[in-house]
Amino acid sequence: MHRFFVSPEAFANHPVVLTGDQAHQIRRVLRLRLGERVELLDGQGYACEAILIALGEADAKLQVVKRWAAPGEPRTHISLFQAVLKGDNFAWALQKSTEVGVSRFVPTICARNVVDDLDAAEGKRDRWERIIQEAAEQCGRGRLPELAPAELLPQALSYQPEKGTLRLMAWEGEQANRLRDVLAGCNFTDGARIEVFVGPEGGFADEEVATARRYGIQPVTLGPRILRAETAGVVAATLILCAAGEI
Ligand code: SAH
Repeated sequence: MHRFFVSPEAFANHPVVLTGDQAHQIRRVLRLRLGERVELLDGQGYACEAILIALGEADAKLQVVKRWAAPGEPRTHISLFQAVLKGDNFAWALQKSTEVGVSRFVPTICARNVVDDLDAAEGKRDRWERIIQEAAEQCGRGRLPELAPAELLPQALSYQPEKGTLRLMAWEGEQANRLRDVLAGCNFTDGARIEVFVGPEGGFADEEVATARRYGIQPVTLGPRILRAETAGVVAATLILCAAGEI
């Protein structure tokens, strides 16, 4: 069944009315017919089965018939602070990390970023949000992952996280502290909160690692092979959710 995230306002109405891209998707791309069913996600953790009952040029009306807690949402909350990357690599990282189960993305600008302009990063926001939404719909997430405003790394490192948050920096220069060992000591039973910082194409600068340590962020290794920046966040999120028993 095809899935769509629906705004809380649209959900408040019966039938639910979809417009814009979603109506276009139903009419022109999926070519759904009256009576066919789709899954609607409310972004708050619930999914609904809905029947297409009317189809106009610019909107689609759907009757909700069943509601349940969406099973695709991890209890472990991962915030991925991913350095903005050149070309399509950042979009790729957002898409794959959404599929794996990351809940929040913070695009960061680090010392060695090729893309080093906050405004340029913000200019891509609409496209990035669309990519996250489509990936979340495709893979059946219960909540839409959040895309936070882009930040400079020193700022992102310095803010006070929610109490109990485990803060990690995937650092290619780390040899002793393995992510898997850190995770083995975690209690995931009540849904942990974990932040992971991933560097740009050129890696983290030494002073960035030193600053991270000062804020209590542990550098961790993802293993002896150097991964590309767009791969590292996906791998870290996979290892975390695997240790949490959610993969
Ligand atoms: N150009 C650098 C590598 C950068 S890799 C070099 O050759 O050394 C880009 C980012 O991916 C790194 O900053 C880090 O955050 C992450 N990363 C890649 N491989 C990693 C590994 N084995 N362990 C931890 N982090 C890794």
